[in-house]
Amino acid sequence: MQVKRDGGLDNNFVLPGDEIGIAEEYLPGRNVADQDGKLMSLAFGNVFRDERRLVLSVRTTKEKHRARTGDIVYGQVVKDDRGTQTVRVGAFEDRSGMLYEIDMTGLIRQPRGHNPDSAPIIKIGDYIRAKITRDGDYYDLGIMSPNLGVIIAFCSLCRTRLMRDQAVLKCPNCDHVERRKIASDYGEVYLPPERNDLK
Ligand SMILES: [Zn+2]
Repeated sequence: MQVKRDGGLDNNFVLPGDEIGIAEEYLPGRNVADQDGKLMSLAFGNVFRDERRLVLSVRTTKEKHRARTGDIVYGQVVKDDRGTQTVRVGAFEDRSGMLYEIDMTGLIRQPRGHNPDSAPIIKIGDYIRAKITRDGDYYDLGIMSPNLGVIIAFCSLCRTRLMRDQAVLKCPNCDHVERRKIASDYGEVYLPPERNDLK
């Protein structure tokens, strides 16, 4: 499959192994390999031609769909740095209620001068549902609404999945009790249907 000669994002969808150009004309970019002078796609996606840098890359559906301010995201807390939590965002829900796979970083920041004792409790390892409050190179996330917050958490003593018990979370294995800022549907989360453009 040959790419069109005009620059930018081509509409043709390519498969892994498709020849999308030649190394004499372009450098291999993301998701593209140089195989004996032929540029081959390594992914399912659309060819993107950077005519200035002369780079060919393949943009996957992961990169095509971008979450924006106001969208709901799902992810896992991976780091906690003095009250600012880093979230590895794995999916987002658009306004029509479809779920898209993405790979982005989100931050939950505590407001300046906050009282740490009154901060919403989320911990490393928790899976959360959050809302994007600012959309840039990374997302700022908010979890304060009742439907937002922790949707899955694990016991800090034995790693068993915690069950909801009124306002707290309880470990069914060791009876340890923990607190989190949980989403109102903790324990019975319904994930929207996954959108997969490849199907
Ligand atoms: Zn436990």
